[in-house]
Amino acid sequence: CGIVGYIGEIDAKEILLKGLEKLEYRGYDSAGIAVLNEDGVMVFKEKGRIADLRGVVDTEVAATIGIGHTRWATHGVPNHENAHPHQSTTKRFTLVHNGVIENYHLMKKAYLSDVEMASETDTEVIVQLIERFSKDGLSTVDALRKTLHLIHGSYALALLDNEDEDTIYVAKNKSPLLVGVGEGFNVVASDAMAMLQVTEQYVELHDQEIVIVRKDSVEIQTLEGTKVERAPYKAELDM
Ligand code: GLU
Repeated sequence: CGIVGYIGEIDAKEILLKGLEKLEYRGYDSAGIAVLNEDGVMVFKEKGRIADLRGVVDTEVAATIGIGHTRWATHGVPNHENAHPHQSTTKRFTLVHNGVIENYHLMKKAYLSDVEMASETDTEVIVQLIERFSKDGLSTVDALRKTLHLIHGSYALALLDNEDEDTIYVAKNKSPLLVGVGEGFNVVASDAMAMLQVTEQYVELHDQEIVIVRKDSVEIQTLEGTKVERAPYKAELDM
């Protein structure tokens, strides 16, 4: 199970797929990527290996922002529907998640009784909650913030908003996640190893932080909205 993300100036697909291959050692049963360009978001996912995922990715699609996931199923069998990325009903929001949301049943009952779920995962609840609060009038970051205040459990997550081609929203709690910084691009990864081929500079994230990742900036906030300054460190491969 792992997460990758890229926002920058070159095509994201190959960077995401290579990153996922580097995370294969963690074990997984399905994989997927989502990329966003002026035509909107496109999701490619498949049960099985990254090699199988490569087979379904449309190589014609060009995009400079995207997220990727390898899934180790905890809620819902390993199949296409339950593979990540997951999308909200209108498809405005697209999410990858590692971890377990313990109160997802409760959240579904309390906020999403009218929503038809496309999967059996705990993860889909997160992306549907974000859409619910966004429809109530909250900005994307505030909808994410409200969602994270309500859910209990472990998560490393990366979120795309169809209406914003310039941002990857990231958050973590009790599951590993890092932001890698580059010149004219930034990346997201569960493990620096996934993205060492593009950058060696990483910013550590703490539990209950939200990060707004753009191609030229990385803004870390606490769940309460206080800005956090943290310098990157140099990650090196143990040989
Ligand atoms: N709980 C989520 C699922 O079953 C995420 C699993 C993971 O960490 O890969 O889809």
